[in-house]
Amino acid sequence: MISMRNVDKHFGALHVLRDINLEVPKGQVVIVVGPSGSGKSTLCRTINRLETIDSGEIAVDGVKLPEEGKALAKLRADVGMVFQQFNLFAHKTILDNVMLAPVKVRRLDKAKARARALELLDRVGIGNQADKYPAQLSGGQQQRVAIARALAMDPKVMLFDEPTSALDPEMVSEVLDVMVQLAKDGMTMLVVTHEMGFARRAGNRVLFMADGQIVEDTEPESFFTAPKSDRARDFLGKIL
Ligand code: ADP
Ligand code: MG
Repeated sequence: MISMRNVDKHFGALHVLRDINLEVPKGQVVIVVGPSGSGKSTLCRTINRLETIDSGEIAVDGVKLPEEGKALAKLRADVGMVFQQFNLFAHKTILDNVMLAPVKVRRLDKAKARARALELLDRVGIGNQADKYPAQLSGGQQQRVAIARALAMDPKVMLFDEPTSALDPEMVSEVLDVMVQLAKDGMTMLVVTHEMGFARRAGNRVLFMADGQIVEDTEPESFFTAPKSDRARDFLGKIL
């Protein structure tokens, strides 16, 4: 579903992604961990082309990442992304936030988009908040809206970049529970997170990144209990 071959990326002199090779099959949930600055966010952002790459190839569902134009818009619609900051439109209601892209980008009929948005809001447990504005919701609720908004485009892949890092601790589980359900429903997911409980519950695979490289690629249980590299052991010693 996601394929990266020999991907390299620099920011000026900084080599942020070094020869990344990655195949994520359909339905797999991949957890990405690693120290700050190791390239986790950049990796996510190259997959929906929020960042360009210097060399190599990225394909989503067999379609090579286009450079621009309509094909790029289509690709972006197929790859949902949820960020640490929820990035909701503050002046629009929850319902409008979720309906907006399907109507504008997918040209979905408004009544259909509305019905689908309400269904998705129900699915993330906030159907009764549809007419409120983002600021009236808690952080955990806003992040669930952001997930519903991404799902409204019927993405083939969902990317999550530290989706619970900005939340108060008591709101983390309500967001992770939605993500666990999504994983159970068969969504292909790439999730940057240090939430080990989530990684164990929902993850099929852990990638440990350091200095722009994938240093370990293994099952969650063996990564957390018996990391192979010194760097991973050192990292786990700091977060556990
Ligand atoms: P992570 O998400 O693992 O913390 P990032 O992918 O955000 O790491 O960043 C990797 C490296 O690239 C860091 O050193 C960061 O400072 C640098 N970086 C990220 N984005 C930019 C940018 N737009 N311009 C220049 N440097 C950047
Ligand atoms: Mg990051």
